[in-house]
Amino acid sequence: MTSGLDVEALHFSLESMGEFARRELPDSLLIELDERDEFPEAIVRRMCGEELGIQLVFVPDEYGGMGGNAFDVYRVCEGMAAIDIGLATSVLATILGSDPISVGGTPEQKRRFVSRVAEEGILMAYGATEPEAGSDLAALKTTAKPVSGNGHVVGYRLSGAKQWISNGGVAELTSVLALAPGGPSWFVVDNRTDGFTHGEPEDKHGIRLSNTAALFLDDVYVEADRLVGGVEGQGLVQAQEVFGYTRLMVAAFGLGGGWAALDRAIAYSRERVQAGGPLCEKQGFTHKLIVPHAVRLEAARAAIEETAERLDGGAGPLNVEGAVAKYLATEAGDEAADAAIQAHGGYGYTHEYMVEKIKRDVRITRIYEGTSEIMEMTIARGRWQEHLKSHGNHYHAEARELESLHAERPAVGADAAAIAAHALAELMESCRAGRLTRLQHVLLRLGALIAKVEGAGALARRAARAQAGELAPKADRRLDAPALATASRINAREAALTLATESVRLLAGSNHAELGDLDARLGTRAVNAAQAGLIADMDSLAQALCRQAQLRATTRGSG
Ligand SMILES: Cc1cc2nc3c(=O)[nH]c(=O)nc-3n(C[C@H](O)[C@H](O)[C@H](O)COP(=O)(O)OP(=O)(O)OC[C@H]3O[C@@H](n4cnc5c(N)ncnc54)[C@H](O)[C@@H]3O)c2cc1C
Repeated sequence: MTSGLDVEALHFSLESMGEFARRELPDSLLIELDERDEFPEAIVRRMCGEELGIQLVFVPDEYGGMGGNAFDVYRVCEGMAAIDIGLATSVLATILGSDPISVGGTPEQKRRFVSRVAEEGILMAYGATEPEAGSDLAALKTTAKPVSGNGHVVGYRLSGAKQWISNGGVAELTSVLALAPGGPSWFVVDNRTDGFTHGEPEDKHGIRLSNTAALFLDDVYVEADRLVGGVEGQGLVQAQEVFGYTRLMVAAFGLGGGWAALDRAIAYSRERVQAGGPLCEKQGFTHKLIVPHAVRLEAARAAIEETAERLDGGAGPLNVEGAVAKYLATEAGDEAADAAIQAHGGYGYTHEYMVEKIKRDVRITRIYEGTSEIMEMTIARGRWQEHLKSHGNHYHAEARELESLHAERPAVGADAAAIAAHALAELMESCRAGRLTRLQHVLLRLGALIAKVEGAGALARRAARAQAGELAPKADRRLDAPALATASRINAREAALTLATESVRLLAGSNHAELGDLDARLGTRAVNAAQAGLIADMDSLAQALCRQAQLRATTRGSG
């Protein structure tokens, strides 16, 4: 059990960060830096220095940090991303760079390197990706040749190239993944070491406030005590071990970016009058450009919070859950930002408006720390095992739990989420019978559908906890209990409908001969019936979001 920061300390960190951003990072400066394609190194160093010390949340107490747990990290990452995903990426890169050491390092290595992140605020980089090894890291070509002396290994010579490395041109230390005789291994390399150079900053689509550079290692010598953990061949395991946690961070970036864009769209829609009234009163606007995105972001948040709580409870690496959270949040964040541009009309298409920048920034979250397609594959493969182990019952069991929840709390969307889960169990069983997961398209679409269903279940549970007044003390409280329940009903209906229609597409589309009575198995009637009340719920959520924006504007005005 990792209790992390106390609630007051978390709120203090979030408030200090907000205050720093209001004082030092007005929109006009962020837009200017984006246009100049400039990494504001001094600002990042102040964020990770005595002035703000935001990196301390991520560093364990014993190495001089504040020892934040996964929940704290999610809240802080969401907050940083709402300010700027490029700046947030720089902090993330330091934490990713120190992660192989935190996970697999010897006590001496942790003291020597991780404590520098806390005490000196050094910037680190995480050097895994190579020009020809991205999603498939095992294809790496960078080598680590042992150097012997007195009959044992005294050091290594690293040679190769790394691609797209955040903080690559500015970090003091880099964790480099290289192929040693015993297999892929991490090495901690001082960036000033002879033979270690970097390329020019990449000219990127977004996160232009972050530094991204290629790294070149030309026979770079490191002492043997810089091999993380002191044993070769542990690199991929050490990378895997933190995926649940690191993907949660990027999930929080998607959430923070998505909501930052949507908040602006909602505020704009209250002011912008067209055809005799503000846009926020027009269903054709709100029910397409605001409500669905708010709902999907909150489903993602529910998945993030559940995963964070479980990680903090010691439930293990949770790679599949981390992938579900990342997939839901980054896809929803990107769609929300796109909708926010549309919501601003022509203005949204100009550099002058932050939504345009946010859209370019949030796009990266679907690519780094594992692409969306790799997330789909991870989710599908992980849950496929559960499906087989449970003889097809995994999602029927999940559905039954949601049915019990519905009996207890009828208005939180658990009924429609249960319909979706039953349909998923049936779809997976049909895939097993037809051996359809051999088709990669089917496998990856299954990953997407699993995430949708799990997000629906998570949001229903979160809405129920909110109704019962039992949300975690550190949980976000953007939506109140009635609004969360409404969002959950909308989301669960969408999950059920998506399951029913996508199942037909996949099963019939792959010429699966054994379709049988597909409608009965997928519960199509129940799916259709569950849609009742959808528009009224969308009306209600649109009004709640608009009221909330009004309240925020009034509070700001009076404060
Ligand atoms: C701005 C930025 C910052 C980054 N920061 C870092 C960093 O700090 N450290 C670091 O190590 N890396 C970093 N990366 C690298 C990032 O993690 C990789 O770009 C990412 O993992 C994808 O690898 P790739 O670019 O080689 O694409 P590829 O792996 O070649 O993928 C290309 C496309 O093919 C798809 N694909 C790949 N494999 C499969 C498959 N088996 N089946 C179906 N589809 C597949 C992918 O989803 C993607 O759509 C960064 C990248 C960017 C752009």
